Amino acid sequence: MSKIKLLPEKVINQIAAGEVVERPSSVIKELIENSLDAKATWVEVEVQEGGRKLLKVSDDGEGMSPEDAKLAVLKHATSKVYTVDDLSQLNTFGFRGEALSSIASVSHFELSTRLQGAFSGTLIKIKGGDAAKITETGRPEGTTIAISNLFFNTPARLKFMKKESTEENHIVSVVTNYALAFPQVSFKLTVDGKEALRVSASDFGARVSAIFGKELFKSLLPMDYALNNIHVTGMVSAPTITKPTRENMLFFVNRRWIANPSLGYAIMAAFHTLLPTRRFPVAVVFIEIPENEVDVNVHPTKKEVKFSRDREVFDVVVKAVRGALMASTGSLQPPATVEPLSGMGAYKSARLASSASSAQESPTAWSAPTTPLNLYDKIAQNRPAQPLTAGASHPNPLEDFNLAKGSGLQARRIDADTPLYNFSQLFNTFIVFQSDSEMFIADQHTVHERLNYERLMKGVREKSLEVQPLLVPATVEVSTKEAQVLKNSLDILMELGMEVAPFGGNTFLVRSVPADLAGKNMVTLMKDLLDDLMAQDASGVKSTNRLDQLRERTATFMSCRSAVMAGDRLNEEQMRGMVNQMREANLPFTCPHGRPTILSIPLSELYRRFDRH
Ligand code: ADP
Ligand code: MG
Repeated sequence: MSKIKLLPEKVINQIAAGEVVERPSSVIKELIENSLDAKATWVEVEVQEGGRKLLKVSDDGEGMSPEDAKLAVLKHATSKVYTVDDLSQLNTFGFRGEALSSIASVSHFELSTRLQGAFSGTLIKIKGGDAAKITETGRPEGTTIAISNLFFNTPARLKFMKKESTEENHIVSVVTNYALAFPQVSFKLTVDGKEALRVSASDFGARVSAIFGKELFKSLLPMDYALNNIHVTGMVSAPTITKPTRENMLFFVNRRWIANPSLGYAIMAAFHTLLPTRRFPVAVVFIEIPENEVDVNVHPTKKEVKFSRDREVFDVVVKAVRGALMASTGSLQPPATVEPLSGMGAYKSARLASSASSAQESPTAWSAPTTPLNLYDKIAQNRPAQPLTAGASHPNPLEDFNLAKGSGLQARRIDADTPLYNFSQLFNTFIVFQSDSEMFIADQHTVHERLNYERLMKGVREKSLEVQPLLVPATVEVSTKEAQVLKNSLDILMELGMEVAPFGGNTFLVRSVPADLAGKNMVTLMKDLLDDLMAQDASGVKSTNRLDQLRERTATFMSCRSAVMAGDRLNEEQMRGMVNQMREANLPFTCPHGRPTILSIPLSELYRRFDRH
């Protein structure tokens, strides 16, 4: 008789459970992910005794038919992938189809579900992976999964369960983190009968405020930066607000909450020397990247992911954070405890953790996220380098930050009544001007882009967009794939003042354009726009906010195309006009791509620089 035997399904599941179901919070994570995959608009979580007694997640999602419910609890049963290729285009959290079967094998498991539009629901009970008991049941549309006596039949795991409060903390983290990533979904968490969290559908800002508190929220800086199809958004705390642990540095890749030490280093690198030793910022970082560039199948609980361009992702995160820090209106105050070497330590580890290719870069050579600063960097670099030791004559971490970034430069709004004069253009690219107490440098392109963007969006909102019909419609021929993307974008384009109509096959007619774009070469414009939209499409953004993102992306593209470029000559009146309009912009600090628009250098800073006291 052979020594080798195929394990029974029940044992296989219990072994798998060891990987998927590390602890109660991992059950909650799997269940919330299933609810979100089922497009729930509210998710309710209930736990008792740190999850040992009860873990329950209810949702108002799609629900399951009786047949699907029976299949759902089997191993490798999933509705989310069918082929290996699907794995590289994944836009759901789940894909292995093993969570429910694993959980059911190590607990008393109860699933009740009713498919949207069905007359009745299904109740499935499984004890420790034994045969399922299935009955019909009445319940609202959606799904509830209740797990009691977790690990009752795996004593070894039960022994490793941590204190109740530790498990509770983990569960609260899971729920709040998903709540941050899905502000449009309502969440409620009850711990031992007491409400721990209740948030209703809102926008991201309100959600952050609800979860982190109003006070902290006020000190958070928004970030938004995109480069080469990697889009980073979210919020990061000003350097004055720091925490003793990394716990508040959260990362989401395509809305999936992940752990990635290298991204933590990216944040630390961006702050550079602005943080005191062993203090960490608060950061909620969303990375949107084409699905086929992230491998989510590298970790049993899908907690870690692998990027095919990890170096670039690292850099874009650094730039996004730096952009947010630079664009903050308030001046950056040095942190209370001044320990200049701390930043370097973090910086070095960040370097070690990332690829070796850039290891030779010197710390101050961190290129600023934007072009306008480079000019200033050159000036800054000519200054004698300051020793980065605690006993140095300038033990101020901000100093070094400034050295690298251009000391004293701030992005800020200019009051409506501040007199401005001495306008001139430098390198046909920058506008320089002054008030009585400050000098300003503006990037003519980013300023114009911001103005165009706000005008465009206002026009859309107020339905007052100025549209110019083309006397002769422009004919644009595109690829099949592009045609598909274009067809899906026609409504948004129309909304933004661009009337494009299918004209058989892959040919389209452009009938009208926003007045700002009149006179542009439509064929090139459409091709470039499609490139941009295709990149967006490939990023597999979740369907709920796809339209918003598409609109924003298209509007950003249009604003960029209708803006003056670097190299365009401007007269004083044009410069003055643009700068004056910026005084009233909603978000004057950056262009829609996240680059700075106007930077100021206070006169006091000039005095300081030239040793005039
Ligand atoms: P996976 O999420 O990897 O597909 P799971 O074991 O977590 O695997 O779930 C199996 C299947 O059960 C899912 O593919 C989905 O079709 C269904 N399912 C699970 N939870 C829910 C839910 N809350 N609402 C609707 N369907 C669900
Ligand atoms: Mg799942």
